[in-house]
Amino acid sequence: MPAGSPPVNLLGFSPQALEGWVVGLGEKPFRARQLLKWLHQQRATGFNDMSNLAKAFRAQLSEKASIRAPEVIQDHISADGTRKWLLDAGAGNAVETVFIPEDDRGTLCISSQAGCTVACPFCSTGRQGFARNLSTAEIVGQLHLANRLLARQAHRLDSQGQPARATPGQALAPVSNVVMMGMGEPLLNYEALVPALQLMLHDDAYGLSRRRVTVSTSGVVPMIDRLAQDCPVALAVSLHAPNDALRDQLVPLNKKYPLRELMAACRRYLAAAPRDFITFEYVMLRGVNDSAVQARELIALVTNAEVQCKFNLIPFNPFPNSGYQRSEYRVACGFADRLTEAGFVTTIRKTRGQDIDAACGQLAGDIQDRTQITQRIAVHGRQPSCVRP
Ligand code: SAH
Ligand code: SF4
Repeated sequence: MPAGSPPVNLLGFSPQALEGWVVGLGEKPFRARQLLKWLHQQRATGFNDMSNLAKAFRAQLSEKASIRAPEVIQDHISADGTRKWLLDAGAGNAVETVFIPEDDRGTLCISSQAGCTVACPFCSTGRQGFARNLSTAEIVGQLHLANRLLARQAHRLDSQGQPARATPGQALAPVSNVVMMGMGEPLLNYEALVPALQLMLHDDAYGLSRRRVTVSTSGVVPMIDRLAQDCPVALAVSLHAPNDALRDQLVPLNKKYPLRELMAACRRYLAAAPRDFITFEYVMLRGVNDSAVQARELIALVTNAEVQCKFNLIPFNPFPNSGYQRSEYRVACGFADRLTEAGFVTTIRKTRGQDIDAACGQLAGDIQDRTQITQRIAVHGRQPSCVRP
């Protein structure tokens, strides 16, 4: 390492890259697997505790490397257990991470970019413009951080009264599911995303199954194909409109990759996907995309395209000057009923963490003034709250 250069952040290495780096230091490849476990399963923040690594190797690590998850600026816990962190992304920017506990799982909603270039008008991230891509370390660091802070929250102690630590095969990590549904368009930060996904899936790191890791995209067609090749995980596609004219307005990326191409990409993805369906997200905007005619058009779209799918209707969460309103509950339920009657599994996303301003779809970004973080953020409850009470 040249004098003065910052130590390499080990959270940014894919399993393969870490092995290459460790071997480059003159160590055996299995040392990389041990290190990977320390980093991602034991949630180490330093090298002193890494008792199964030789002292000399630990000394090398301390000199050449660091373990840096993003810094927490704010930490909120909702009455319903939802937890939200505002994380420093440098230069006055911040991103948010949200943990949603449920009886049978704990879902972490992770950001991929500070801001977003897609500029969907109903999304507060999109309205804020784009600051920068997050690095792999910043993406996977959100998971590292959440597991560490949540384990502390749970006060889990081992038989010696010490904080319990995950060992391979143990399900001690609080996060069981990851959704790339925070700020940003993950498929427009592909090079950083894939190593982070690889870590989420790797048995010596987070060990999540492909079905428990979901990438949500506004429809970056070529990258959907690449994801199928490189790292097929569950896919959610933000549809929001049943035709190109409306989708051009709501998801401007549609002008580049119109519905016909998007549907074809979804069909191709299914051949590699860990689930036998694509989830279509559909934000319910009053008087914009929520009519009975549009529900029929939506059914025709996916039926003609022959895409096996489920629908997840998202109640719109307003933010200042958005210009949109949430569909009435009975309208959303009527829309859901039409899809259900046509044979599609349809859920209406439950809104969680409202008391900490953690309602669905609006992520804070710009923190030039860090006391002004009042924008709301997305929380993605996984169980239907409606369809029919
Ligand atoms: N960029 C990706 C993932 C992040 S957004 C994507 O668009 O898919 C996660 C989900 O929240 C998307 O379906 C998005 O359309 C939705 N969303 C954005 N703003 C929202 C709002 N104000 N209310 C409800 N959902 C919103
Ligand atoms: Fe970007 Fe997704 Fe928001 Fe659209 S909805 S602006 S793609 S984060």
